[in-house]
Amino acid sequence: MNVLLDIEGLLKSYGGNPVVRGISLSLHAGACYGLLGPNGAGKTTTLRLCLGLTEPDGGRITLAGLPVPVAAREARLRLGVVPQMDSLDPDFTVTENLIVYGRYFGLRDRDIRARVPRLLEFAGLASKAGERIQSLSGGMKRRLSLARALVNDPDIVFLDEPTTGLDPQARHLIWERLKQLVAQGKTLLLTTHFMDEAERLCDRLSVMDQGSIVASGSPRELIDQHIEPDVIEVYGDGAPAWHETMGARLADRSERVGETVFCYTRDPRPVLADLEGRRDLKVLHRPANLEDVFLKLTGRDLRD
Ligand code: ADP
Repeated sequence: MNVLLDIEGLLKSYGGNPVVRGISLSLHAGACYGLLGPNGAGKTTTLRLCLGLTEPDGGRITLAGLPVPVAAREARLRLGVVPQMDSLDPDFTVTENLIVYGRYFGLRDRDIRARVPRLLEFAGLASKAGERIQSLSGGMKRRLSLARALVNDPDIVFLDEPTTGLDPQARHLIWERLKQLVAQGKTLLLTTHFMDEAERLCDRLSVMDQGSIVASGSPRELIDQHIEPDVIEVYGDGAPAWHETMGARLADRSERVGETVFCYTRDPRPVLADLEGRRDLKVLHRPANLEDVFLKLTGRDLRD
């Protein structure tokens, strides 16, 4: 299989603090790869290192067959980037933003103009070609950033939190477009802290925490390997007391978060039987999901 990005033993510290601690990963052509992690895990730094925008302290990066940072400039010609913050130029129209960006890749205006209608169509912005950036909604700006990242017809696209700050409708539209790109054979590497996004889009995920990859696999593999299959959530005033007397004993694993008790188990029957008839408690029985895995691996402490 064609490996588009290969990282081995990547290291980066800032002011003596290790931010990326020896991570390795391989990204195959045609896959959507997700890098998950809480704030400060080192996801953005990893992307910047792969782009050659940050100098690594150690390790090896090969992007599109070229060594980074030595040949980063050349490698980036095969790459598209959708940054976390929209960096569109407010002084230009939608079309002009695409043309100006295309010039960075050495494309001739004539060639870029020929691509613009297809890119705008893809982004759902065909009717906005002459509009200024200020008149676009957040979702439109993000879709234009995506179209801009495709101006050089890249093999691989990096997306840093592609739907952060968007409303549900706008998020779904971005997801649909990203799926289209994968169907067209593009390779995507995205960072996210939205588990539903990762579960829907990604063939393969790595969970990062404190600069290290703590687990990798498909969403299904991560759930199967790292968490009990059934979760029973118990809410209500009496939940903490029930947890102490029964829940902790009946579930394979359990934890209390405020007034909610989470019971993780391979056999939900004893827990459910005990809860039957407890009208004072609300009970939600559901299959384990990626968020459960994420919280188990990275903890529930807030990261700011
Ligand atoms: P994430 O994208 O997972 O939220 P980042 O890669 O942005 O994480 O940051 C990881 C850590 O590195 C954070 O603690 C952040 O403060 C620190 N960091 C990132 N960039 C710099 C920088 N240029 N100088 C100093 N510290 C940095």
